[in-house]
Amino acid sequence: MDVATNLEQIQQNIGEACRKAGRKEEEITLIGVTKYVTIERTEEALAAGVRHLGENRLEGFSEKYNAIGKRAKWHFIGSLQSRKVKDMINKIDMLHSLDRNSLAKEINKRAERTVPCFVQINTSGEASKHGIEPEQALGFIEGLAQYDKIQVVGLMTMAPFVEDETIIRQTFRTLKMLRDEVKQKDYQHAPCRYLSMGMSNDYQLAIEEGATHIRIGSKLVGQK
Ligand SMILES: *Cc1c(COP(=O)(O)O)cnc(C)c1O
Repeated sequence: MDVATNLEQIQQNIGEACRKAGRKEEEITLIGVTKYVTIERTEEALAAGVRHLGENRLEGFSEKYNAIGKRAKWHFIGSLQSRKVKDMINKIDMLHSLDRNSLAKEINKRAERTVPCFVQINTSGEASKHGIEPEQALGFIEGLAQYDKIQVVGLMTMAPFVEDETIIRQTFRTLKMLRDEVKQKDYQHAPCRYLSMGMSNDYQLAIEEGATHIRIGSKLVGQK
């Protein structure tokens, strides 16, 4: 399927989820995840009107960034090794996977400007998932005040791979509650307004539960 057709379908679904939840479509940023696909297919997404792109590995990001540059806004969504920070941190617009202090420290050292970051939370309790445990989130975020290049703009999570809609919704609600808690603190370094949650299989639910940034790969550009 061409990207434009997929995008149209997704935009309809976003509209429907927004109406259900009494939200505005402008509140939602669609990030096209291009980690599975070629530069050519990524160009097709740009031509269809996708403005935000997401990559989860340095190699994939660099390849796409070299070809596309500032024609897109760049979101780094994958777990990030500290030694790779210097090669990408000044090229991206947002980091969705801040999950440890050592990474924050390295970002602070290498960044030439403030980096908008989402703190990744492990809301599902799965050991395989990256992210800060919900109980530790507030303390972790408080500690980030020492890094002047880091701005905590929101929280990010990945729902577990289950069929049960109530479990998926519950993880999104946990993230929203945590976001509200951080936001209430009014930390200068952590305005924490955004929620990065929802992928191909659960983005409508995520929007109903408050997502502001949805990350869609397979349903938008396909797997290969
Ligand atoms: C791959 C990936 C996505 C997109 O996944 P799809 O299910 O293909 O939409 C979103 N977020 C992260 C962190 C990913 O790694």
